[in-house]
Amino acid sequence: MQKDKISKEKISKEKIPKEKARVPRDQCVACGCCFSACPQKAIAIIKGVYAAIDESLCVGCGLCLRACPASIIEMVEVPA
Ligand code: SF4
Ligand code: SF4
Repeated sequence: MQKDKISKEKISKEKIPKEKARVPRDQCVACGCCFSACPQKAIAIIKGVYAAIDESLCVGCGLCLRACPASIIEMVEVPA
């Protein structure tokens, strides 16, 4: 019985989509606030012009989103 419960929980967790942060380049003012806020060091400021997020490092914590003074960072669902 317990075994069934565990395997069902595992399956449902695998189906939950994960979220990653994304920056619309054309709206970014390259202030660097998201860069400073990211605990994963997933953000780079490219050529001093816009922020780029490495999705392979992003854990979807949302700290960059809260730090962005322009409120342009979006959380997008990606396959788990
Ligand atoms: S959501 Fe978290 S881990 Fe992902 S880029 Fe933003 S601060 Fe970094
Ligand atoms: S905090 Fe916002 S405006 Fe500043 S660099 Fe990051 S995404 Fe661009």
